Amino acid sequence: AALARIAATDERVHAFLHVDAEGARAAARAVDAKRAAGARLGPLAGVPLGLKDVFTTRGVPTTCGSKILEGWLPPYDATVTRRLREADVVILGKTNMDEFAMGSSTENSAYGPTRNPWDLTRIPGGSGGGSAAALAAFQAPLAMGTDTGGSIRLPAALTGTVGLKPSYGRVSRYGLVAYSSSLDQGGPCARTVLDAALLYEAIAGHDPLDSTSIDAPVDSAVAAVRGADVRGLRVGVLRELSGEGYQDGVTQRFHESVELLGKLGAEVVEVSCPSFPYALSAYYLIATSEASSNLARFDAVRYGLRVPADPDASLEDVSALTRAAGFGPEVKRRIMLGTYALSTGYYDAYYGSAQKVRTLVLRDFAAVFQHVDVLVSPTTPTTAFPIGERVDDPVAMYLADLCTIVSNLAGNTAMSVPCGLAPEDGLPVGLQIMAPALAEDRLFRVGAALE
Ligand code: GLN
Repeated sequence: AALARIAATDERVHAFLHVDAEGARAAARAVDAKRAAGARLGPLAGVPLGLKDVFTTRGVPTTCGSKILEGWLPPYDATVTRRLREADVVILGKTNMDEFAMGSSTENSAYGPTRNPWDLTRIPGGSGGGSAAALAAFQAPLAMGTDTGGSIRLPAALTGTVGLKPSYGRVSRYGLVAYSSSLDQGGPCARTVLDAALLYEAIAGHDPLDSTSIDAPVDSAVAAVRGADVRGLRVGVLRELSGEGYQDGVTQRFHESVELLGKLGAEVVEVSCPSFPYALSAYYLIATSEASSNLARFDAVRYGLRVPADPDASLEDVSALTRAAGFGPEVKRRIMLGTYALSTGYYDAYYGSAQKVRTLVLRDFAAVFQHVDVLVSPTTPTTAFPIGERVDDPVAMYLADLCTIVSNLAGNTAMSVPCGLAPEDGLPVGLQIMAPALAEDRLFRVGAALE
């Protein structure tokens, strides 16, 4: 049914870069066989899922939305991929994304944009727009995303779906093609909080193959959903992430959600994190700096594309030609920015300052979490904007990440849940809930209570 739905709708939506019909059918048959044999089945047995094309899949194309990885067949599965298979999930294929997860609209994919199923003239958010659109178009009930600065939560907000960025280190990064290694984190995308909890339980937990993986037990997310209750919970509304600059309908739905939390018995207080206005600039320095280093591996020798050159061309020439042809404009912009920020003479002024801001963000979070259990804000300042509207204005594009990047800088966990439609355009609005690292259960509680 999922494959038929994709066949019927994906020409318009373009959520998938690669549909692995054969692999999906084989996985489904394997589940049937296990069931017939009376074998123990995983908790998500037979459930179809769209996998963001940044997770490696053995023998199945993995492009990260880039021409430079066209034709590359990974020799191994990411830990997330492996865990999904072990949970008997049926992987339908690879979902579209901004090239190397750099973007907020999925327009930076080298293979063309994904369209928002709510309005096909609009973007679905990014970088994981394919995963969110697959959910909203009812192509799959589950999808996987990655969130470096909001790429799970922003598309969730703009498509009326649920997205969780787990705490840094909760979900293995092994086999997740690196963008900014100190910020990257995989997480679940779903249509309901309970579905997100089921998927989270399948993928979370320690992995010896990822040196930054956290070796701590994972609380039951499903239990948190089932016991959803916010009575007595202290909810902080961040002064710095609301107010001016937000679309009216977003502000209205946000205030209604806060009011509802109050009615359900939560204690709502206003709090302040003075470093947050500097966080977006710091994020775009740290993320681009790390990207400039991580993307050095695409050198025309190790992976994918190699542009043919004269027989006597140097390795450097081949690499330069290949990178010029294989990377899109936004990726090049970021490699340049990051290289500049890390260069001698500028390092202290840019990268060093950004790291100091990162420390301040961490301290601000630690201070407010002394007084509140969770924080709430809109997930992003506006609803889905028209395709093409921000492509020539990178800073306008970056502003979509205003509310999400702080949790990545601090390594905290945060979730976006739907909170209604904006009256002025009828498009979905997302509520962001944030909690301290390793307190995912609070997000599941609050998210489920609001559902
Ligand atoms: N929009 C942000 C960026 O382009 C976040 C991307 C992400 O989370 N992968 O960096």
